[in-house]
Amino acid sequence: MDFEDSPAEAAFRKEARAWLGRNAPLAARTDGPRAMFTSRGAADLPEARRFQQLLADARLTAITWPKEYGGRGGTVLEQVIFEEEAAPYDLPTSIFMVGMGLAGPTIIAHGTGEQKRRFLGPMLRGEEVWCQLFSEPGAGSDLAGMRTRAVRDGDTWVVSGQKVWNSGAQYSGWGIMPVRTDPDQPKHRGISYFLVDMGTPGIDVRPLRQMTGDAHFCEVFLDEVPIPAENLLGELNGGWAVTQTTLMNERMMIGGGGMGIDPAWLIELARGMSRGTGAASTDPLVRQQLADVYIRVELIRYLRFRTLTALGRGEVPGPEGSIIKLAMGQLLKRVGDLSLGIQGPNGAMLNGSAPAGGAWQLSFLASPSIRIAGGSDEIQRNIIGERVLGLPREPDPNRQLPFAQYASA
Ligand SMILES: Cc1cc2nc3c(=O)[nH]c(=O)nc-3n(C[C@H](O)[C@H](O)[C@H](O)COP(=O)(O)OP(=O)(O)OC[C@H]3O[C@@H](n4cnc5c(N)ncnc54)[C@H](O)[C@@H]3O)c2cc1C
Repeated sequence: MDFEDSPAEAAFRKEARAWLGRNAPLAARTDGPRAMFTSRGAADLPEARRFQQLLADARLTAITWPKEYGGRGGTVLEQVIFEEEAAPYDLPTSIFMVGMGLAGPTIIAHGTGEQKRRFLGPMLRGEEVWCQLFSEPGAGSDLAGMRTRAVRDGDTWVVSGQKVWNSGAQYSGWGIMPVRTDPDQPKHRGISYFLVDMGTPGIDVRPLRQMTGDAHFCEVFLDEVPIPAENLLGELNGGWAVTQTTLMNERMMIGGGGMGIDPAWLIELARGMSRGTGAASTDPLVRQQLADVYIRVELIRYLRFRTLTALGRGEVPGPEGSIIKLAMGQLLKRVGDLSLGIQGPNGAMLNGSAPAGGAWQLSFLASPSIRIAGGSDEIQRNIIGERVLGLPREPDPNRQLPFAQYASA
């Protein structure tokens, strides 16, 4: 890959850097890994909306989306450049991640002209927040085993069932939701993908509290929820292909390096502790672990160039997304352990007197979730085994059978 920016990319980088310098708040260097882990709630929504609108006015959001729907019409590499430039800043826009990263690209790929006109503008201006209603109590890793069903009734589909682990569902106005529409077909067929107004009667959203103390996600119960037929995205019973578009974008979002870790944060933390209660920055074991984190960060950076090379050539990235996702989960676990280790007894104090003021403690408590969200470590290993190492595909004896033959929808 060519590591240098082209003249057009250099100009874009300059524009993004200058805009961020003028408009965005810098993140505190001792705040630890941020992005997915510092969950923002409804109280942060007004500020998130104000900032998203500023980004939209500057055409620095929806960078790859078509101009006719309010996007910039730019390249994936420009999107990556923006993310690189934005890394040192604390942008309040993570609340829009599902919309901008998952729902938007899926609507662009599969939506009708009318759906694109209706949904993309409010999404990119931050007027409507979206959530992802995919996982179910019995369908996470094996997502195609979903049982939430939709039955046609005139101009509407009536949906009943349960979704779970839905990030931000409690403050979302819209959701993306694949459900079973034909249980007589094998499980990967017979699924259709809907755009759901979360205010529809029959939807009950119940936040779930995690060990961080934060209710990052929810369970969502659907009891005879009417969805207008025009909210079907893509083909009837062809929803698995639409779902794959969303999942590919999710892997790229998580594996794209948006959760960049700067080892300098940990070095600063160790130096801060040395000035206070301990001598962490001169402890040989701590120094060795810092070197380990540094090496892993660099490895992920180089793995990421593989993805960028594919994107730069207009290709869809391959299983390297799974390798990065796996490596990122392991890195965050080590970063969490090390940051608390450096703080010694202070590490046990969530709101204590440690230099980080509790941010590292929250990162530590949240770090296991990255090894599950967006496909667990084991599932990433399966993908790597099958698509990188060429191992035999995992057996699924029911794959070709009608879903209703072995499961009740
Ligand atoms: C922070 C967070 C945010 C999330 N946000 C959302 C969201 O917004 N929307 C949404 O729909 N979902 C969301 N999820 C759900 C997430 O996608 C699922 O948790 C994940 O896919 C795993 O599914 P599961 O929880 O049902 O676990 P299961 O699939 O039941 O897995 C249980 C265990 O078995 C292992 N396992 C399962 N199958 C295999 C296999 N074939 N081979 C080897 N091991 C296997 C898994 O690795 C895991 O350890 C979120 C999860 C987290 C943690």
